[in-house]
Amino acid sequence: MNIQDIIAKKRDGQELNREEIHYFITEYVAGNITDYHAAALVMAIYINGMTDEETVNLTLEMAHSGDVLDLSSIGTVVDKHSTGGVGDKITLIVMPIIASLGIPVAKMSGRGLGFTGGTIDKLESIPGYNTGVEVEDFIEDVKKIGISVIGQTGNLAPADKKLYALRDAIACVGSKPLIASSIMSKKIAAGANKIVLDVTVGNGAFMKTKEDAKELSNIMKNIGKLANKETVCVLTNMEEPVGHAVGNSLEIIEVVECLKGNIPEDVKEIILTLGSYIIKLAGRGDNLEENRKMLIENIENGKALEKLKELVENQGGDKSYIENINKFEKAKYVMPIFAKEDGYVKVLDAEKIGVASVHLGAGRVKKEDPIDKAVGIIVNKKISDAVTVGDILAYVYANDEEKGIKAIEEVQNAYEIVKEKVDEPRYIIDII
Ligand code: URA
Repeated sequence: MNIQDIIAKKRDGQELNREEIHYFITEYVAGNITDYHAAALVMAIYINGMTDEETVNLTLEMAHSGDVLDLSSIGTVVDKHSTGGVGDKITLIVMPIIASLGIPVAKMSGRGLGFTGGTIDKLESIPGYNTGVEVEDFIEDVKKIGISVIGQTGNLAPADKKLYALRDAIACVGSKPLIASSIMSKKIAAGANKIVLDVTVGNGAFMKTKEDAKELSNIMKNIGKLANKETVCVLTNMEEPVGHAVGNSLEIIEVVECLKGNIPEDVKEIILTLGSYIIKLAGRGDNLEENRKMLIENIENGKALEKLKELVENQGGDKSYIENINKFEKAKYVMPIFAKEDGYVKVLDAEKIGVASVHLGAGRVKKEDPIDKAVGIIVNKKISDAVTVGDILAYVYANDEEKGIKAIEEVQNAYEIVKEKVDEPRYIIDII
């Protein structure tokens, strides 16, 4: 077998068989296939797509390209994953609630990429929080306190690590078979029994339309079925950022506020929907309405916030930051952005907000770039809100005045205010 023949086959729109996909993945991970050969094949996949069978084979090969965790000693583990977004702090709110209900949470998360944020970067804005835990300790931590949230370990789905970086470099991230295999390979390798996926839809997501998100969901559900991992996809709105905060420590502060019960409507609807399915898949309740009540109860009685503190402490983090959010280092400049006209917010472009936050330093342009934990954006007014001249639309948190001034312009451009009343958006688009 040789890689040129495989590239030519895919270039000409033919279907690759399991052996060819196996050859590509194993040899690429072993360093025997060059990045330019891999790039040519990935581009051919991006352009010509993959059949369901090819996508499943690619996923399974990627999942088995490194270690596959065995979490059976923990019990039924339901994993949660988002296809990515702006201000997406949902994992950090919903998973402590789930753990506080006695359902084990063993979660490996990723870093931000492009204009989307990552749970691991957010967690690392809590001083001392160690995201680089060995697998044995990860499992022990879940057994001890019921929850661990860490970064992906070194040898989990290494094919995805290489392919994701390559896709990013050659403008091939937004392909359904490639996204589906990337996500599902990691979930299979991470040892979950069941999976709840938050499939984001809108300008701040990789899937811009409901139709595309549905198609991606069906591909991932099919992979889950064949891998014997029940999968539920919840399509959520990513036309505007989730909640109010975008930026690492700003989002941790919002997480704490949410767990104290001060939850923006969109965040509430998303955590209750995802959470009620996680409970269901964990075998702890078939009635989704009852499950929602259980989630709300553990926010109101403070158990979920206690669980977050326990998680932070157990991972070596300083829990006094969770107890007193004023301890988080503030950005040097907090710059308000004022409404220049009366009306209603029609557009709050999530991608533009995400890009502005990256320019401020909250995200990375290149993989190895450092990030500034304190900077970001608070969107005060969201879609359908009424505004009057002089109202504060948003705040820019900057450590560099020039970057802050540029971000003000970018955030202003993300808003469109109209005279007519605007309907509240639907936060849950579909469940598949
Ligand atoms: N998230 C992933 O883990 N992989 C993708 O390809 C896209 C989003």
